[in-house]
Amino acid sequence: MSGNDSWPGDSAEAVFFTDCHLHLQCAPDPEEFIRQAAAQRVRRFLAMAAGTDDFKSLFELKRRFACTEIFVGCHPQQAACFDRRAFEDALRSPFVCGIGECGLDKRPALLQQASLKLQLEVLRIQLEAAYLLDLPVSLHCVRAHGELLAELSRFKGRLRICLHGINPSPELLTAYLRHHAFFSVGPLALVPDCALLSRLKNMYPELRHRLLIESDFDGKPLCADYYAKLTKVLCRTFNLTMVELTENTAAALEEYLPHALPFYSTSP
Ligand SMILES: [Zn+2]
Repeated sequence: MSGNDSWPGDSAEAVFFTDCHLHLQCAPDPEEFIRQAAAQRVRRFLAMAAGTDDFKSLFELKRRFACTEIFVGCHPQQAACFDRRAFEDALRSPFVCGIGECGLDKRPALLQQASLKLQLEVLRIQLEAAYLLDLPVSLHCVRAHGELLAELSRFKGRLRICLHGINPSPELLTAYLRHHAFFSVGPLALVPDCALLSRLKNMYPELRHRLLIESDFDGKPLCADYYAKLTKVLCRTFNLTMVELTENTAAALEEYLPHALPFYSTSP
C-alpha cells in the first residue's frame, strides 16, 4: 500500500479494534478515554490489573462499561504486595476474562522491590490458575525471557499467552511461537527507527493471526490520535487494508479470548 491516506477497503463502518492491554482504571475520565478511542475505531478494551489494589476499580469499570473486559493479576513490580486470597476471590467472578498483567522483570530497580525468586513464586500461582481455569494471560517480561520460557515449558503450549510490549529478536519470537504465544504491539511501533516493525514484517506469514494491538495506557496521556497512528503504521508495514488488519487482529483475539462475554455495543 502507498503511504498516502487512502485506505482501500476502509469504508466498512463495522471495522473496529480491541486494545488488548491497558490500565483503563487509571484514566481520570474513562468515559472520555473510551469516546476518544472509539473515534479512532477502538471500541473494546482489555483492562489489566497491576496489583490486587486495582481489582475493586476494575470491577467498577466492568459494571459501568460493557465494552471493557477485565483481567486480574499482579505485575512483578508489585509481587511483594501480592494478596493471594484477593486474587483467588476475584477469580470466582464470572466477569473476570483473564489473568494479567503478570510476568518477570530483572531490571535492578525492580529486583530491589521483588527478588526474582519472589517474582517466580507469584508468577507460578497466576500461571497455574490460568491453566486450571482456561483463562488467557497477559505477560510482561524484561530481561528474563529464559526464565519465562522455562516456566511456560511446564505447560507444554496449553496456556493462551500474550506477550505485551516486548521487542523480541527473531529467535525469541520463534521461541515464544513454539508456546503458541500472541504478541500485542503498542507504543514501541511508533518509535522512529525501532527494529520491532521490520522484525515483525519479516515473520508476518507466521504472525498473521498472532498479533494484537495495545496502548498500555496507565494514566499518562497517549500521544494525539495514538490508535489511528498505530493502526496506520501496522497497515503500512504489513501492506494491509484497514479491514484486513481488523480481520487479522480479530482472528487472533478470537483464539486468545474465546470465552469473553458477548460484546453487543456498537458505540459507547
Ligand atoms: Zn501494563
